[in-house]
Amino acid sequence: TTVLGIETSCDDTGCAVVDSSGKILGEALNSQQQIHLNHGGIIPPIARDLHQQHIEHIVEDALRLADIQLSDVDAIATTVKPGLPLSLLVGMNYGKHLSCKSGKPLIPVHHMEAHALTIRMVQKVDFPFLVLLISGGHCLLAVAQAVDKFLLLGQSLDDAPGEAFDKVTRRLKLRNLPEFRALSGGAAIELGATKSLDAQAFKFPAVMTHYRDCNFSFSGLKNSLRRRILQQEKLHGVEGDEVIPDVFNLCASFQMAITHHLCQRLQRGMEFVALQDLLPPHNKTLVVSGGVACNGFIKRALGIVCQEMGYSLAVPPPHLCTDNGIMIAWNGIERLRVHAGVTHDLDSVDIVSKCPLGEDWTKAVAEAN
Ligand code: ATP
Ligand code: FE
Repeated sequence: TTVLGIETSCDDTGCAVVDSSGKILGEALNSQQQIHLNHGGIIPPIARDLHQQHIEHIVEDALRLADIQLSDVDAIATTVKPGLPLSLLVGMNYGKHLSCKSGKPLIPVHHMEAHALTIRMVQKVDFPFLVLLISGGHCLLAVAQAVDKFLLLGQSLDDAPGEAFDKVTRRLKLRNLPEFRALSGGAAIELGATKSLDAQAFKFPAVMTHYRDCNFSFSGLKNSLRRRILQQEKLHGVEGDEVIPDVFNLCASFQMAITHHLCQRLQRGMEFVALQDLLPPHNKTLVVSGGVACNGFIKRALGIVCQEMGYSLAVPPPHLCTDNGIMIAWNGIERLRVHAGVTHDLDSVDIVSKCPLGEDWTKAVAEAN
């Protein structure tokens, strides 16, 4: 079985052909990151135009690299939720066009479900498992019970961690340093932190530690860092394009604070999972994915929590953690296997810009703990 997957929910135009053994037959990706960096953020109509310019040749490239014809694939999977409406529309419409042209069924995909299931392409991870998705637009902790059945234990009440890294990187003017110019926000903070001599130089307030749920919050840490930057700029008389002298210590302290919060909330979630018997006690896995799962420091810290709590940690390789067409094609394979959401009725498929993953258990967590 082979599926062609299309991803355009945000700023990456991706396409891939994947088979049921998890083999990537062909892949193509166009990232708009460098263009949006010049604008200080994603401008939706610009993202749409770039998707439209690239979608056709990205699909052609993926098929050519896979050395197959569109008529050879078994289905077309395309992201329809959640994401930027203008971006989602390009991928959905192109997916419909391909489905119509080839007569193959369409599989509408939830972008976060795809992030959550990617690991099963590269490693044997059976349902149920716990999954932490940390990315540019989301932070969520869920129990994956089946391909299309998730229990949402916690999510961010404000910013996503990747978003916080992106904003803070801009505010720190990190990209004025040549080495950092082409990096995403999270990668820039991670690199900056490795250059720090004192990761304890700045203290950040504990976040939500007295909350009984396992939701997340990142805007408080972000604002706290903003105040520190202002203080430092004043103190050292830093102006214009100059970078503050303590910038690397700030990166390390901030990365530490974010990591600490993630670990604390995760542990709460794990306690709830144990209380409710949501996972088999002797076979517990935590899957971590989304762009922020590329971060080595965060991965190591989550690994320690897993060890303490009796979980094994599973993280896809970095290129499968960020957005790509591969995870969408794989989601198609997973859904085709269980006949979930596979359709020929193209009119019934539409985009949804905001769409939580799974059943909302966030209140149940607060009540039980
Ligand atoms: P979502 O999946 O929620 O819709 P998205 O698709 O925009 O969001 P991804 O492509 O999954 O997000 O991830 C992008 C995010 O990952 C960016 O915010 C980026 O800063 C972050 N990121 C990338 N590399 C690292 C790293 N090494 N450390 C921390 N964060 C990172
Ligand atoms: Fe994503």
